[in-house]
Amino acid sequence: MNLILFGPPAAGKGTQAKRLVEQRGMVQLSTGDMLRAAIASGSPLGVECQAIMARGDLVSDEIVIALIEDRLPEAEAAGGAIFDGFPRTVAQAEALDAMLEKRGARIDGVVRLKVDDAALLERITKRYADQGRADDNPETFKVRLDAYNRNTAPLVPYYEHQGKLTEVDGMGSIDAVAQAIDAALDEASVQA
Ligand code: AMP
Repeated sequence: MNLILFGPPAAGKGTQAKRLVEQRGMVQLSTGDMLRAAIASGSPLGVECQAIMARGDLVSDEIVIALIEDRLPEAEAAGGAIFDGFPRTVAQAEALDAMLEKRGARIDGVVRLKVDDAALLERITKRYADQGRADDNPETFKVRLDAYNRNTAPLVPYYEHQGKLTEVDGMGSIDAVAQAIDAALDEASVQA
């Protein structure tokens, strides 16, 4: 099963994806993690993306689509992927649909974590203090939130139109959100 965890930065996608990896053996495909690893390794890709990410802007569709395409065989072998932070544009979503279709697969469900802006800011402030991730600082976070609203929010009607979108209240505790996601996943596997 292939699932997209969708929502603004700091909505809890990474936390929930990691839990699903542990509990269901799926593979987490986080383009943010892949890009941070590229920066840490000092690869040409990392050098190219570092300043863009530090500003809070999106890197190009071509780059993230290629990163995901590379990892699809591994995800397929594990029985499915949890896409975390990808797709972030309609072009990425279209490319993902096409890549999966070529492999005889598809997106089975899209879970949208809904969290209001004030709560996001509160979470990001805490995460910045705990982890010191540079692009979590309040000014950069605002740019990331703007990028989400401008480029990523149009994916809501995209997946709604495909009948795949489930909305989950992301304001609850980690356990409550986990339960809601599990219910959505079970529903998606019934339909698959
Ligand atoms: P994340 O860890 O998902 O919040 O991603 C951190 C940063 O990596 C984002 O602010 C973007 O600069 C970049 N990034 C991650 N995923 C994507 C994507 N799918 N499309 C474009 N940029 C991305």
